[in-house]
Amino acid sequence: MSRQPVIAANWKMNLKIEAAKNLTLKILEADLKLENKEVILFPSFLQITTVISETKGSEIKVGGQNISFEDEGAFTGEVAASQLVDTGCTHVLVGHSERRHYFQENYEVVNAKVLKALNHKLKVMLCVGESLEERENKITEMVVIDQLESAFQNVDRKQLKNMYIAYEPIWAIGTGKTATTEDASHVHQMIRKTLRRLYDENACQEMRVLYGGSVKPDNVSSFMNDQHIDGVLVGGASLKAPSFKSIINFKPLK
Ligand code: PEP
Repeated sequence: MSRQPVIAANWKMNLKIEAAKNLTLKILEADLKLENKEVILFPSFLQITTVISETKGSEIKVGGQNISFEDEGAFTGEVAASQLVDTGCTHVLVGHSERRHYFQENYEVVNAKVLKALNHKLKVMLCVGESLEERENKITEMVVIDQLESAFQNVDRKQLKNMYIAYEPIWAIGTGKTATTEDASHVHQMIRKTLRRLYDENACQEMRVLYGGSVKPDNVSSFMNDQHIDGVLVGGASLKAPSFKSIINFKPLK
């Protein structure tokens, strides 16, 4: 089955308005070979309206890096799914390891956010991945399966078309270390097997599963060449237009 490739940029807590605008403009000016690729930018909340207004009319989509699991009300500092939708966002990242680690987002919180986002018709990019210690203890599969089973609790089969999974080994995020394509592919296949068990064969075949963790222009092609890897979620290398552009325009190996 052929799945549309996805290139996503997680800008994290970087860039002020002017810089976010300039980066967006440079990405748009670049000769992007989108050819049936989906490109999604995840700026920080305060840059979202700028990025949305600059990308209007283009094929680039914009999402938030987080949402509240509450609808609205007295939750100081939180951003509601409905507010993200109101800005024009179509996507949201949920369960990024930095949220799980620094902000104590447990399985229950991640699941509540997935359900809230889907209820508000946001497309969810669910991040999963193991720590270095978990990898060294050879429990990667167990960890990722636990993350998947908990995040997909009560997610209706019909909603799966509005989800992506990003496999991001924590030890590879922002460290310059990457999983080998073989290691990533192995986990991606295990993710698909889990979807088959939780749902059905079509769910397993249709889900787009991205790799994230120090993706750069010089390693993107190897990941994208693997039949089980449908895209990349890029942090550091998405903050500079030339490197993000080369990632979007990656050259297939075959
Ligand atoms: C990320 O934070 O999602 C990420 C993959 O970051 P980096 O590319 O910098 O490792």
